[in-house]
Amino acid sequence: MLENAKNYFAPMHTAEHILNQTMQRMFNCERSFNNHIEKKKSKCDYHFDRLITSQEIAELSSRVNQTIALNLSVSEELISYDEASAIYDLSKLQQSDNQTIRVIKIGDYDRCVCSGEHVTNTNEIGLFTITSVTYENNVLRIRFKLA
Ligand SMILES: [Zn+2]
Repeated sequence: MLENAKNYFAPMHTAEHILNQTMQRMFNCERSFNNHIEKKKSKCDYHFDRLITSQEIAELSSRVNQTIALNLSVSEELISYDEASAIYDLSKLQQSDNQTIRVIKIGDYDRCVCSGEHVTNTNEIGLFTITSVTYENNVLRIRFKLA
């Protein structure tokens, strides 16, 4: 549930949140443990046990696009470290005194701790397309772009 604290291209990075949540819902897997987000193309890596089928790829992108099409508002919520640690895995964060945790919510679809930049509504994301999926060493890599 923890995203890297980088200043990503906001539409791509927000699509990544939706992709992660959709992966969790479809396959009951963890959010991507490694990713590379760029304006033209991005990739997310998941700990996984197999390559997903072309039918699953189609369903995954369809679900992501259906979520984007709901025009969900993207909002932030600031909560205390103690409150956040009860809900989220904060092991990748460095704790400091009186730290406030920023939670990004995409409608009621997704919530995660993140300090990156996001769009304010999913209608700014565009069409999500999976360009390729590969599987190696227990890692499923999904490459995608926006149009
Ligand atoms: Zn984020």
